[in-house]
Amino acid sequence: MLVLVDLDDTLCNTWDAGKYTLLRLIPFLLRRRKFKSFFYIITARYRELEQSREFHMMDLDKIVEKLLGKVYAKITPEEFEEIMDLVDRVFFSNLKLYPDALPFLQGLKEMGAKIVLITDSSSHWQRKKLEYLGIKDYFDALIISGETGHSKLDPHNFRLATSMFPHEEEIYMVGDRDDTDMRGGKDIGATTILVKRGYFKGRRPKHADYIVNDLLEALEVIKNEHEKRAKA
Ligand SMILES: [Mg+2]
Repeated sequence: MLVLVDLDDTLCNTWDAGKYTLLRLIPFLLRRRKFKSFFYIITARYRELEQSREFHMMDLDKIVEKLLGKVYAKITPEEFEEIMDLVDRVFFSNLKLYPDALPFLQGLKEMGAKIVLITDSSSHWQRKKLEYLGIKDYFDALIISGETGHSKLDPHNFRLATSMFPHEEEIYMVGDRDDTDMRGGKDIGATTILVKRGYFKGRRPKHADYIVNDLLEALEVIKNEHEKRAKA
């Protein structure tokens, strides 16, 4: 059995930590009279980045630099340093595993599943999160967009996962985003399980076989499917 698992907003609360970081940035920007950034944040113009393949593989400091570059002609290196410092500090002090993440990963291990993390963003940023959350050893492989050069908007990383474990025919994909996690899972014939949490939880999914409220329900789905297959 092969289980592909997404990281952000599936195992940990990335969007909540990010939202809190944005809120903490607002007084900082206003004090420095950075009104344009303030409007960029409150009008949620960052949504335009959702479909950008480039942004799905970039490091956080590069993203912030690019965003600030979009809003201002120039920003001093000192201001940039100061902003990155705040972002890093506030983000990591708010980043947490969801309480069901460890029981989920342990449950999969007990079933003898191979677990592959499949995640967008840069190598540095995703590995730093794994280090901080202390879950790296649960995975049999890590597939990170910044390392493969392909985001989850393309099927490449999902196909890479199956090519790493060619003898596994029973495949599950667990994630929070429909047009990446679920669609990519369908591309390789996986049973797809959407966890309703994080930034995308209000969207109506098109590629999910199952929609669940948390990872314990996802584990139940996998157990039931596995038993069904054993009987068939
Ligand atoms: Mg996610």
